[in-house]
Amino acid sequence: MTSLAERLRTAHDRVHSAAVAADRDPHEIRLLLAVKTQPAERILQALRAHADQGSPGGVALLGHNKIQEMDATGPALSEAGEHPGLAHEMHVIGHLQSNKINAALRWASCIQTLDTTRLAGKLDAAVARQAERGDREVRDDEPIPVEVMVQVNTSGEESKAGVAPESARDLALAVAALPHLRLTGFMTIGANTDDSGAVRASFDALTQIRDDIAGSGELGTEAARELSMGMSGDLETAVAAGATMVRLGTAVFGAREPAA
Ligand SMILES: *Cc1c(COP(=O)(O)O)cnc(C)c1O
Repeated sequence: MTSLAERLRTAHDRVHSAAVAADRDPHEIRLLLAVKTQPAERILQALRAHADQGSPGGVALLGHNKIQEMDATGPALSEAGEHPGLAHEMHVIGHLQSNKINAALRWASCIQTLDTTRLAGKLDAAVARQAERGDREVRDDEPIPVEVMVQVNTSGEESKAGVAPESARDLALAVAALPHLRLTGFMTIGANTDDSGAVRASFDALTQIRDDIAGSGELGTEAARELSMGMSGDLETAVAAGATMVRLGTAVFGAREPAA
């Protein structure tokens, strides 16, 4: 049986090979562990493996889909994170309901799934309130902003969340202008099809949106360089299209139990 540590190493090798094949610097691409359904102990195992392997890409990145799971694993993970070797960043990679914003802000430093101006406004206000309560660090009289990415539905699949590509620019500029949000980039889920051209197109679309917005010169857009795209099944295509962060679940943790 393959161990989690071996699978993590293999995943890094895949990202590395994909970067080389695409004539890119492998250091431009970080690996985020999509930890949905994994118990805290298993996530800790992955953090230890990351540290044992020399922390490739720097601090470990974890992503939760469900705030409920983030809450459940939060205490154990933040305690572990006090150890320098097990430090990590937590990202929200699933749909964020507005009634879960406060819980998300407790654990996550980045929300990758911002897809409406309404949610952005609520998140911005929640960061300010968190600082007023003394639950968020303040610097120069301003709360430290929460990092966000705009999720774009580049495949057009109805089942997928995300803003429509034609509306991504307006949303991104609105987000970038909010004082307590820091737009770091864009996120998408690749087209769910065997048609490799369609998968590639769904990633290329995000790269184009990023190039357009990060190069716009508009307030708060210059740091919006991140392209979070590519999962266990399509990371090579995503890296070829410019991904800077791939989100891997099954490639590292093995097949998930089917939902009960
Ligand atoms: C589950 C999930 C992943 C990882 O998917 P795998 O196919 O298991 O690698 C990546 N991104 C999101 C948003 C997910 O929900």
